[in-house]
Amino acid sequence: MKEYVDVLIDEAKIEKKLQELAAQIDRDFHGEEIALVCVLKGGAVTLVHLAKYLKSPVTMDFLSASSYGNGVKSSGDVQIRLDLTNGIEGKNVLLVEDIVDSGRTLAKLREMFLERNPKSFRICTLLDKPDGRVVDVPVDYVGFEIPDAFVVGFGLDFTQKYRNLGYIGVVHFEEE
Ligand code: 5GP
Repeated sequence: MKEYVDVLIDEAKIEKKLQELAAQIDRDFHGEEIALVCVLKGGAVTLVHLAKYLKSPVTMDFLSASSYGNGVKSSGDVQIRLDLTNGIEGKNVLLVEDIVDSGRTLAKLREMFLERNPKSFRICTLLDKPDGRVVDVPVDYVGFEIPDAFVVGFGLDFTQKYRNLGYIGVVHFEEE
């Protein structure tokens, strides 16, 4: 099987959307410091690109988690493998995600973050697949709603590849 990738959202559209989201986030946080956090590896690209458009003072922190499922769908059984290096108690936390599908991973992470008593907690995702939603989780900032297809690029992988693409694409497979 050979795979190829079709462009779904090009780089210019993504950057423009991140600028719009950053402007909205700046307005909502009124110049207060924002602790940007993301789950490695997928969310890192969106976090970095969003951060360059933010005018609010920000810090960045990363955690690594494993979600056990059947490989395609997440189970929501999230285990932290590498935790944040800075505490978030009393801080304005903005969790930056690449994509929300069933919402299971996010719901679990939200619960874990809220237990740490941040001053506020919001979620931003570049992509949202509303058709896949199983668990209702409040997402404050959404870049693009997309159909229920498997996408790669801008941090998202297929077998660890394609994370470096500047655009979002849909993976197709063809017989060789
Ligand atoms: P959820 O718990 O919302 O079902 O799953 C979210 C996680 O599943 C994302 O952080 C991502 O790792 C993975 N995921 C969901 N949809 C896609 C997709 O279309 N492409 C890729 N590469 N990963 C996805």
